Amino acid sequence: MQPSNEPSFRESVDIMFNRAVALMDLPPGLEEKIRVCNATYTVRFGVRLRGKIQTFTGYRSVHSEHMEPVKGGIRYSLGVNQDEVEALAALMTYKCALVEAPFGGSKGGLCIDPRDYDEHELELITRRFAYELIKRDMINPAQNVPAPDMGTGEREMAWIADQYKRMNTTDINGVACVTGKPTNAGGIQGRTEATGRGVQYALQAFFKDEKGMEKAGLSGTLQDKRVVVQGLGNVGYHAAKFLSEEDGCKITAIIERDGALFDDAGLDVESVHQWIAKHGTITGYPNSKMEAKGAKLLEAECDILIPAALEGVINLSNAARIKAPLIIEAANGPVTAGADEILREKGTVIIPDMYANAGGVTVSYFEWVKNLSHIRFGRMQRRQEEARHQLVVDELERLDRYLGDAWSMSPDFKKKYLRGAGELELVRSGLDDTMSTAYQSMAEVWHGRDDVSDLRTAAYLVSINKVAASYKAKGL
Ligand code: NAD
Repeated sequence: MQPSNEPSFRESVDIMFNRAVALMDLPPGLEEKIRVCNATYTVRFGVRLRGKIQTFTGYRSVHSEHMEPVKGGIRYSLGVNQDEVEALAALMTYKCALVEAPFGGSKGGLCIDPRDYDEHELELITRRFAYELIKRDMINPAQNVPAPDMGTGEREMAWIADQYKRMNTTDINGVACVTGKPTNAGGIQGRTEATGRGVQYALQAFFKDEKGMEKAGLSGTLQDKRVVVQGLGNVGYHAAKFLSEEDGCKITAIIERDGALFDDAGLDVESVHQWIAKHGTITGYPNSKMEAKGAKLLEAECDILIPAALEGVINLSNAARIKAPLIIEAANGPVTAGADEILREKGTVIIPDMYANAGGVTVSYFEWVKNLSHIRFGRMQRRQEEARHQLVVDELERLDRYLGDAWSMSPDFKKKYLRGAGELELVRSGLDDTMSTAYQSMAEVWHGRDDVSDLRTAAYLVSINKVAASYKAKGL
């Protein structure tokens, strides 16, 4: 539980923003213009369920419209409130600027526990919430494009897209009104995994940064690094799965709502995920030890801590006891401003949320572009690319025959080289490139300026500069 002397989530974001702008030389008034949230809509609507009308409260906040459309997820959680959506909308502005996704920042939320409703009821609620936002242009391919967040996924996005189409039957770009849709309803391959995949790429970029590794007191590669993950939902599951299956990390603890599983030898992420899908809880999972007070495991000895559930989990009450030398904020706002200060003083390196979980919005950007261009990535080029590669392979085979035993192609070169990139490969390569370029831009500031001691401040400096440049260019 977060102590009461902590600032709220939005205040925490403001404190971190203020720390960065103090190091900048912005024209008078621009700092305030960038910091404030432009508008927040509250909608209250009724849905007839189980024989009576139930009233729901939802929000859509627009932080900055320096670029349009604005972009940001829709969250379903009982914790949703105005302060939270405004904090999340602000983070979206900075995140989009940092990874050069051409959007302003927005966020939405519905105050509801989705586990209390069946699928049909959730569809009725989602469609009605979408109706309220669509008729106010708070969902629109040119103005405001939501995506999944905590408690929502591709199913909800498909309902929202369909609701928009019903209300805007002649809008040829209607399907671009929301991203994170299923692939059979205008989605893009690789979107569901994107945020977790981005966390993996972010860690790979960090592990190539010698100075950064030195600051964290880490060495070597990701192989055998001990990783603690909080939240095995969309983001946490994919991050943990890729890190363990592809980079050789050991997932030594998984913290969920109802406790934590831990095993120094490393947990099987896929098997835990399937257990949760079947039983709705980690309780009873047979192949590991369990701790009922799950949050205690945030303080476990490990190399990398990945909070991937919700905000404020590392706060004044536990920051001093966090042992991980490296925290990567897969969730938004998991470290409060107070905890951030304690951890910085301890020398803990934090890869900040606005960068760490930007994989989601990056691939959402690709999906939006795909929807507007009405064609799948790679469709025009793939065969042509394969034909050109075939020419090279034919020549190499000729050489092979000519040189006899003196030279031959490596066994799987032909298979790998001949295959042209499909949508998934293109999405992953675009995401990898985005995460690595954004890391370089932060690291340059982090290592290059004496007055910048942490990656978060560096990230804010890079992104605020970009937002400021955009306002200046507009002549505001
Ligand atoms: P999700 O609903 O799929 O998963 C959240 C997980 O956290 C669930 O497994 C839930 O049981 C667990 N959880 C909830 N409360 C917990 C607690 N107190 N302790 C431990 N575990 C708890 O949500 P998600 O989409 O994976 O989002 C997680 C975080 O990542 C959020 O902060 C969200 O804003 C951020 N994020 C998500 C995306 C995305 O594409 N989905 C993109 C960027 C950022």
